[in-house]
Amino acid sequence: MTSVVYERVALIGLGLIASSMFWAIKRSGLAGEVTGFARSVETRETARRIGLCDRVCDTVVEAVQDADLVVLCVPVGVMGQVAAEIAPHLKAGATVSDVGSVKASVIEAVQPHLPEDVHFVPAHPIAGTEHSGPESGFAELYDNRWCLLVPVEGTDPAATERLRSLWEGMGANVDEMEADHHDLVLAVTSHAPHLIAYTMVGVADDLRRVTDSEVIKYSAAGFRDFTRIAASDPTMWRDVFLTNKEATLEILGRFTEELFALQRAIRTGDGEHLHDYFTRTRAIRRGIIEAGQDTAAPNFGREKT
Ligand code: NAP
Repeated sequence: MTSVVYERVALIGLGLIASSMFWAIKRSGLAGEVTGFARSVETRETARRIGLCDRVCDTVVEAVQDADLVVLCVPVGVMGQVAAEIAPHLKAGATVSDVGSVKASVIEAVQPHLPEDVHFVPAHPIAGTEHSGPESGFAELYDNRWCLLVPVEGTDPAATERLRSLWEGMGANVDEMEADHHDLVLAVTSHAPHLIAYTMVGVADDLRRVTDSEVIKYSAAGFRDFTRIAASDPTMWRDVFLTNKEATLEILGRFTEELFALQRAIRTGDGEHLHDYFTRTRAIRRGIIEAGQDTAAPNFGREKT
């Protein structure tokens, strides 16, 4: 049984994450009213056309007026700017949250702008697709996915608990984590893999010995999954790397070392090294499936390759 968690919720930015939040909130009746704002007229018009948000506002100020919860769903590089704009218009006792993929830099950019009588509970739903924009969202996106809450020091525990209820109501499992640790974990599980996918697709594009049509025609053998990741929104990912610099560089440093070791094993014919390594990585995949975070179906459940 779910019930209204916040009377009024404002979603700032109306892309994949916000639109999925809206449909998930509606699915379970978690808010009385949801207002929304996006920077372009085009996105606002699309939102109105598809019924995304109970009320789409033409200004960010109007959207946050009287809101009990304001969620910043914009690229991480503009979170601070949006926070500065809304700060004077927030209701006393309201909670501000965000969904940014990086936490320490978002906290640093947003927190100084917020008034004392507003709670700040940063969050990050570990769920997404390579699609973006107001029409890409769906109510099930957060079902059985994790959402990490990263409350800042001194946050009222009641505000954190209330936000937890909202995410749980939207289908997510919720954990709390400290910002720097979050950024390191995500560098391993998401940020570095995206950079590697971008690189691999870039390399294939540069490799003139393999024609473009061959890359496309024979892409089922692994490369296709890189292309899916590498199709993700360029603005979002540029901001992720610029704001999670240290952790990403640390993981990429380790990645490069391991890559060199594998390269050496191939060159020297060290089959044992390769076999041991691949056995270890296989166990990680098994762990992800056992944790219910992916399907065990061959080829991710695609009907055919
Ligand atoms: P998205 O689909 O590209 O949507 C971004 C939204 O932000 C759009 O509505 C855009 O408005 C708005 N926006 C962009 N710049 C703005 C600015 N300067 N001022 C005001 N609004 C602005 O992005 P998303 O995938 O939903 O990602 C949103 C946030 O969620 C990001 O911080 C991202 O790191 C985080 N996140 C993403 C994923 C994922 O897999 N996609 C997963 C977890 C968390 P217009 O449409 O008018 O341009």
